Amino acid sequence: MAYKRILPVELWYVVQILSLPTKYSTVLDRAIRFYVWKGYFYKLSKTQLHLPKTKGGLQLTAIKEKSQALLTQNSLRAKQDESDPMDNKFWQKHIPLLCSKTTILPQSLKMIWEAIESYSPTIATNDKNQNTKIIYSFLMKKNVQIPRIVEKLPNQRWGNIWRNMHMANIPTAWKTTVYCYLNQIIPTEEKRHRHNLTDSPACKNCGWLDTLKHRVTNCGAAKTIWEAAKVLLVKIWPDSQIHDCFQTLLVLDPPTKQNKFVTIWLASGFLHYQLTKPLHKIEEFLHMLKELETKNDKSSQILKELRLLELNR
Ligand SMILES: [Zn+2]
Repeated sequence: MAYKRILPVELWYVVQILSLPTKYSTVLDRAIRFYVWKGYFYKLSKTQLHLPKTKGGLQLTAIKEKSQALLTQNSLRAKQDESDPMDNKFWQKHIPLLCSKTTILPQSLKMIWEAIESYSPTIATNDKNQNTKIIYSFLMKKNVQIPRIVEKLPNQRWGNIWRNMHMANIPTAWKTTVYCYLNQIIPTEEKRHRHNLTDSPACKNCGWLDTLKHRVTNCGAAKTIWEAAKVLLVKIWPDSQIHDCFQTLLVLDPPTKQNKFVTIWLASGFLHYQLTKPLHKIEEFLHMLKELETKNDKSSQILKELRLLELNR
């Protein structure tokens, strides 16, 4: 991901030998957060963004845990290596000192030792990257969090929904909109009103209650796009029911795996269009889909599925 570019490679080198103070990991976390949200008003928690993509996160690197994992990995390696000044003999000599209350040795050494002790049995390979990954995932398991939206709507099949949302060959801009939509962090008037940020929950366009569902299915000309998207979906599944349309276009969880790519592609494009374009024009919507249908190199299976929509007829 692009945010990785704002972290210097040297950082990961230094934290292999020196413990990263919390104040610096906080600053780095803040910089990443600023980069990811770019002034977006409603944000998701840091712990949710650290989660794997299949669990509702974005797999963002947790700075503190990664630096701890690198340092621990490096200390473990040193312990096993007799030519290293911090090998087993070093630890045997210093542990009694570290554990005494009057020790003059730095506390960070004690922390490293405790880390070595807790990981030794699990770290069996000589693969440095593999070891770091094991330690990192061990540390990350300590602060696993369930996304707020999953707690709010526990009956949805979130595993499927997140996997579908991250499907390959779907434009990043669409995915970004859909991610905010699924997590319900788009600032609708109804949401803003609940948080006392506005006087009325009414839609500024038409006066109805301004919810996400209203915006994508019912508000003024947006309704015609919703109808058009349903017509396109029927081309893919001729005998689909209205419930299937809702489940696919609004929840990203189609009832069948048949032509899955094109259904998710259509749903993502539809939600992106409804939530980002100020005017809802059917030609503009179809043009956006057509343009992306022909763009970039797609596999023959994907092209075959996209042709079901008959966009270029
Ligand atoms: Zn409206």
